[in-house]
Amino acid sequence: MQDYRKLGTSPRNTWKEDLPPHVVNAFHSLSQNAIYVTAGILRSPVYSPRNMLANKYAGVGWIIGHEIIHGFDVEGSQYDKQGNLRNWWEDEDKERFKNATQCFIDQYDNYIYPQLKGKPNFKQNAKKSVGEIAADNAGIKLSYYAYRKEVDKLGREEKMLPGLGLSPDQLFFVTFAQIWCSKETEAVLIYWLLNFQHPLSNYRILSTLWNFPEFSQTFNCSLGSPMNPERKCSLFGD
Ligand SMILES: [Zn+2]
Repeated sequence: MQDYRKLGTSPRNTWKEDLPPHVVNAFHSLSQNAIYVTAGILRSPVYSPRNMLANKYAGVGWIIGHEIIHGFDVEGSQYDKQGNLRNWWEDEDKERFKNATQCFIDQYDNYIYPQLKGKPNFKQNAKKSVGEIAADNAGIKLSYYAYRKEVDKLGREEKMLPGLGLSPDQLFFVTFAQIWCSKETEAVLIYWLLNFQHPLSNYRILSTLWNFPEFSQTFNCSLGSPMNPERKCSLFGD
């Protein structure tokens, strides 16, 4: 019955059927030119109305940033603003995207998960993961700059949380890392690398932060240290 009611209506303005609102997920629907953030993911630690702005922007803000960026990657380039399958990139755009993302591919190719140090053969296909890595990296820029804009509007920095010893900017980055922090057994790690597109959380956190100059400034990481490498990757340039 529910399906019959949809006859003649546009699929573009309806909630995606295969995405129950309670699941913990978010994604970009290219054919609808829309992003989905479920009720399931809008819970602590990703979001709580009581959180500081730094927490909110690092949590749900980063997720929204990540999903928006998918509209501007290779797959997003194939759908126009109405969600029709129509490429909107010039050849030059394609070339520039390829050049920018090669840097992410090189970084990921050289990375070995600490749990798999003795097993260098188990690697994820960096080319397959590059869209996700690029969205992670550009997503933090969108959410951090949006956070700074909000602070500018406030006209003052947010107050520090008592006893924590972290500035609001430091709290932003710690919140981001804490949300994605996870621990896997070796078997799960290998299964993941062979079957999925997203890198493991450990890499998503590190790569997103070591490529972001504002992170190393916030924590005073010296140039050339692991979290402040000289060669940084950026999807849209600096
Ligand atoms: Zn993604």
